[in-house]
Amino acid sequence: MPPQATPLASYEAAAPWTSVPDPGKPGVNIPFLHATCVPGGSVKKNTSAATITKPVRYLLVTTSDGGRLIHDHTGYAKSEICDTSSPLYLSLMCQLGAELAKIFGLGPSSPSSGSSRKAADNKTWNVLAQLPLKYNAYYRGRSNSNHLDLYIVGHDATRFDSVAQFAKHLAWLARSTKETCSCRVCRNERRQVPAAAQRARKKIWAGCQRPVLSGVPSWIGDEEWEEEEEGEEEEEEEREEVEREDAEDEKVEVEREDAEDEKVEVEVEREDAEDEW
Ligand SMILES: [Zn+2]
Repeated sequence: MPPQATPLASYEAAAPWTSVPDPGKPGVNIPFLHATCVPGGSVKKNTSAATITKPVRYLLVTTSDGGRLIHDHTGYAKSEICDTSSPLYLSLMCQLGAELAKIFGLGPSSPSSGSSRKAADNKTWNVLAQLPLKYNAYYRGRSNSNHLDLYIVGHDATRFDSVAQFAKHLAWLARSTKETCSCRVCRNERRQVPAAAQRARKKIWAGCQRPVLSGVPSWIGDEEWEEEEEGEEEEEEEREEVEREDAEDEKVEVEREDAEDEKVEVEVEREDAEDEW
C-alpha cells in the first residue's frame, strides 16, 4: 500500500521549485508557472481510481484572479467541498495538471493517452500543486445517478464546471493576464464586459498575489514588477483624487456644521434676550 499522501504533503518535501520553459518560445519561461519534481508522488486517475505512486512534476500557477474566500462555501454543502482533506482532491489535481501540461505541450504525463496509455502511466505525471489562491472546488452528486458534477468557484463572472475549461483559464493565468483568456467563462463574460476592462480588473488581482510557499520563486517577475510600478503610479493618482474628493466633502461638512452652530448660537442669544424681557 503506498502512503496516502496528498500533493501538499509530497511537494513540501520536494525542492527546488523552478521556472518552466515555454516549449513554444525557446529561451523563454512561462511567467507564472513553477514546477518541482518528486520521484514518488501520489496520483489518482479519476475520482474512483486507487491512489498509486508515480514520478510526479507538480505544477504551481503562481498568480490568481480568484475572489472566493477559502472558508466561503455559500451555496454548497460541507460534504461537497473538495479541499486537501477530500478524497476527491488528488484526482482533481491530477486531471488539472494533465490538462494544463497538454495545453503547454509539457511532455508526457497524461493518465489517458489512448493507445500509449500503459507507457504514459510509467512516465512523469503532471499534477497541479494547488488551485490558484481564492478558488474553491466542489463535487455535487446527482439525485438519480452516481455522477459527480465538478464546480470550481472564484471567477468573478461565474463558476467553472469543466476541468478542460478551468485548465484553459489556468494556462492564461500562467502566461500573463495581459492577454485575453479563451476559456468559456471569460468568453461569456466578455459579452457583457469589454476585453480591456476584463484584463484591467484582473491585473489588479494578479498584482496583489505573493508567494504562499517557502522556496517558491517570486510570484512576479522583473518585467512584471516594472509594470506594477506603473500601475502603482496610476493607483497613487487615483488615491490622491479620492483624498482630494474626501477633503472637499469634509470642508463642505465642516462649513455646514459651522453654519448650524452659528444658527444655534443666534437662537441661544435670542432666547437669552427673551429671558431678559
Ligand atoms: Zn478565463
